[in-house]
Amino acid sequence: YEAKTTHSGHHVFKQADDSHGEVRLRTLEELRVALLDDQLVVHYQPKINLKTGHVTGVEALVRWNHPSRGLLLPEEFLILVEESGQMAALTRIVLEKALDQAQLWQTHDRAMTVAVNLSSSSFVDIDLPERIAAMIDARQLSASTLILEITEDFLMADRERARTILTRLREGGVQIAIDDFGTGYSSLSYLRDLPIDEIKLDQSFVLPMGQDPRAAALVASTIDLAHSLGLRMVAEGVENSAAYDELVRYGCDHAQGFFMSGPVPAAELDNWIANQRVEDIDDLVQVNNAG
Ligand code: C2E
Ligand code: MG
Ligand code: MG
Ligand code: MG
Repeated sequence: YEAKTTHSGHHVFKQADDSHGEVRLRTLEELRVALLDDQLVVHYQPKINLKTGHVTGVEALVRWNHPSRGLLLPEEFLILVEESGQMAALTRIVLEKALDQAQLWQTHDRAMTVAVNLSSSSFVDIDLPERIAAMIDARQLSASTLILEITEDFLMADRERARTILTRLREGGVQIAIDDFGTGYSSLSYLRDLPIDEIKLDQSFVLPMGQDPRAAALVASTIDLAHSLGLRMVAEGVENSAAYDELVRYGCDHAQGFFMSGPVPAAELDNWIANQRVEDIDDLVQVNNAG
C-alpha cells in the first residue's frame, strides 16, 4: 500500500485506485462485447398529450442487459461509452432498435413518434444525417416520426457547426428537441433562430411544482415564451397529479413522468396503453350512465 495524505487530510491508498482501474478495464472490455453481442436494450417512456390525455409518442432510453450485473441504467455506463469512443456505435444501435419498434407500431395502426437521445459525440459520425435518412426510408416511415433529442451543451460548443448539422437533419424531415432545457447556459432567445421543434423542460423545474408557487410561475412563463416562438413544450419529471394538473392549466403540450409511467419494455407499454383505453371506456360508460 502506498498511503498518501491529500490536502483535505484524507488518506488515499494507491491500491484502491488500481483496483478501480481494473474494474474499469474489465467493464470496458465487457462493453465492447456488449455492443457486438446485442446486449443493449431499449425501454420506452410514454409522452402524454396534455390536451387529450393520450399517448402521442415515446422516448427511447438505452439500458445494458449485463450478463452478470443485470439491467444497468445509462448513468452506470454512458460515460464509459463516451470515453471509449463508442458513442457513435451506441447511437446507431439505439436508432435501429427504436426505428424497428416505430415500424412495428405503425404496422399495428398505432403510429407514435419515437424520440432518441443524441450526445455531441454521436456527431463524430459525420454521415449521421444521411445514415438516419436511410434508416427511415428502409422502414417506410414518415421522417417526422423520429424526434432527435440534443442538449444545450451541443448547441453551445460550436454554434455554427450545430446549426449546419441540425439543418441537414431537419431537411430530411426529422424533428429536433432540446433536452434538459434550463440546465445549460442557453436561453430561448438564443434558440430562436435554430431549426428546432420542441423544448423539453428539465425535471428540476417540474419536480417542485405543486408545492412551490414560484417554480410554477417560472414554468408557466417558459411555456408561454416557447409558444410565442412557435415551439412545442414538453415537461419532464411529472411525478404527481398536482404537477400534471398545473401543466394542463398552463397549456403545456406534452408531459413525461413517473406519475404516468416510467420507461418500460415495448410490450409492457403496449399493455399500459391498452389498459388506459379501457379506463377511458369505463369513464365514458360512467358518464353515460350518470347522464
Ligand atoms: P433524459 O434524456 O433526460 O431522459 C429522462 C430521464 O429521466 C430517464 O432516465 C428517465 O427514466 C428519467 N425520468 C423519467 N420520468 C421521470 C420522473 O418523473 N422523475 C424522475 N426523477 N426521473 C424521470 P434514464 O433512462 O436513466 O436516462 C438518463 C439519461 O441518459 C437520459 O436523460 C439521457 O441523457 C441519457 N440517455 C439515455 N438513453 C440514451 C441513449 O440512447 N443515447 C444517449 N446518448 N443518451 C441516452
Ligand atoms: Mg431525453
Ligand atoms: Mg431530459
Ligand atoms: Mg437528462
